[in-house]
Amino acid sequence: MSKTIVAVDGPAGSGKSSVSKQAARQLGFGYLDTGAGYRALTKTALDAGIDLATVGEQDLVVLFDYSISTEPDNYWVKVGDKDLTDAIRSQEVELNVSKVAAQPKVRSFMRQITRSLAANCPNEGIIVEGRDITTVVMPDAKVRVLLTASEEVRLGRRSLDLPGNGSLEAQLSDRDKKDSKVVDFLNPAPGVTLLDTTELDFEQSVTALVDLINH
Ligand code: C5P
Repeated sequence: MSKTIVAVDGPAGSGKSSVSKQAARQLGFGYLDTGAGYRALTKTALDAGIDLATVGEQDLVVLFDYSISTEPDNYWVKVGDKDLTDAIRSQEVELNVSKVAAQPKVRSFMRQITRSLAANCPNEGIIVEGRDITTVVMPDAKVRVLLTASEEVRLGRRSLDLPGNGSLEAQLSDRDKKDSKVVDFLNPAPGVTLLDTTELDFEQSVTALVDLINH
């Protein structure tokens, strides 16, 4: 039987990561956080003192020996033997990741990595989550979902992720604006199901996603 690929897109703070991860747990699927790749590459370039505007021109195979767990209960991110699981959530990365993700060579490199990670996941299915997954990376996925919520709700959810951050509102909408120059993640493409979680709590959002996958 071929693997069930589920593609989930959505803007920052939509809850797509935590909802996708929990849905994967319930289904016994793998979970792939694709934003982590862009974050880890940004962190690696910053640590190496590389001008971020030139990341796409680097030899990415040499610079970026990337690995990530696809087990929802054992999440880690590594470059070489360096564990970057926590470091990729820093403010420094948060503020710079869009600059790196905007570069076409970076995107095509990350696309190959994502497809290969999904293909090699041992589970019978995998939920692949990130901003251009339904349209560019996994257009043939069995289930494609755009997970959104109102801006107000997204800000509330994000503040749970990044406690004590005063400039959060500006930062979040700024990152969405920068990202949306490259990827349209606010409107579902044809064939992509819109899952608006504005009125749903976490459990209801997970159930809604699991139902979409099962039907
Ligand atoms: O999902 P997350 O917030 O961790 O993503 C971090 C950044 O990585 C996004 O702001 C975006 O710039 C980039 N990204 C992307 N395409 C993806 C996933 C993430 O461009 N599929």
